[in-house]
Amino acid sequence: MFKIAVLPGDGIGPEIVPEAVKVLKAVGKKYGVDFDFREGLVGGAAIDATGTALPAETLQLCRESDAVLLGAVGGPRWDNLPPAERPETAALLALRKGLGLYANLRPAYLFPALAEASPLRREIVEGTDLLVVRELTGGLYFGEKKRERTPSGEVAWDTLIYNTEEIERILRLGFELARQRRKKLTSVDKANVLITSRLWRETAERLAREYPDVELTHMYVDNCAMQLVRWPRQFDVLVMENTFGDILSDLSSVLTGSIGMLASASIGGKVALYEPAHGSAPDIAGQKKANPLATILSAALMLRVSFKLEEAAREVEAAVGRVLDKGFRTADIMSEGKTLVNTEEMGTLVRQEVEEG
Ligand code: NAD
Repeated sequence: MFKIAVLPGDGIGPEIVPEAVKVLKAVGKKYGVDFDFREGLVGGAAIDATGTALPAETLQLCRESDAVLLGAVGGPRWDNLPPAERPETAALLALRKGLGLYANLRPAYLFPALAEASPLRREIVEGTDLLVVRELTGGLYFGEKKRERTPSGEVAWDTLIYNTEEIERILRLGFELARQRRKKLTSVDKANVLITSRLWRETAERLAREYPDVELTHMYVDNCAMQLVRWPRQFDVLVMENTFGDILSDLSSVLTGSIGMLASASIGGKVALYEPAHGSAPDIAGQKKANPLATILSAALMLRVSFKLEEAAREVEAAVGRVLDKGFRTADIMSEGKTLVNTEEMGTLVRQEVEEG
């Protein structure tokens, strides 16, 4: 039996998470695996109910589970809280730190049926199959930050800081993951300007000697942004600093047709966390328009990474592929001649494909 902590969160979270749970239940039935789902409060919803974005019971629930399924947190309602109390920092960053999740994996795979959904031309995005590995508990987001009054106004700073150990463990993961794929690792940095990047690059060079079967290349982050939209097929695994990864993985979602298609897994501790790469999308919340596929594909990652149920993971991914091949689309990936469905209908279609596939 696998215990899954289910944290719907805010905005579209409570709309998309039940769809992934629905698909997981179908997988459980088909493969004779028992899943025990336990729901917890997180984000703005938790602030409203308990006064804090990550209640102690929620963190405890996550720690006692085998995996965590998260929707999204945040929204305009909580935007004016002090930074340390906002859902994004008080819940997400605290959850990552609390569970020791130092790596975020964001696979950007283009389902062939969606080649037309990307704003980029078909010949550019076709064949995209890359994995962004983002460092998640260090770098610019976690270094010292401060804001102070000065005689002429204010001064504010964020600190980008890394030690060798932090860099080494994320790079090592990058090498290992490249080994399981097409054996190409792109280490993304800004070594021409940042001293942390120079340490990063030297560490990558040193580790590369232990992975002679993996081809390592270095790329500046600005060039990488351009290369991702110019020629994404050149990439297999990309590994990078926290902020760089946040930005470039959102960018890579465009290659998959929509941010509503981009799954993610945060790993490194005993319990891993699975969530769509997007946020709470307040602009479409409550309208049944959200694409649940990123969350469903995150659940597939959970099956693969945490539960080692590779066949079931592939089954879910194949079910998503078949639903798209049949022409069903949520609004974000809609194109001419396709059938528009809402969040719940999309989840049901994937569940049916799993049941019948
Ligand atoms: P967002 O990802 O929520 O939305 C960006 C755009 O993508 C919006 O137009 C939205 O409608 C669309 N979109 C996102 N997910 C979609 C889906 N599944 N289907 C269809 N369209 C989708 O980013 P944002 O607008 O910058 O942030 C909104 C809130 O979410 C903010 O409070 C932000 O801090 C928070 N946020 C949370 C997380 C997280 O929980 N991991 C991540 C990013 C942002």
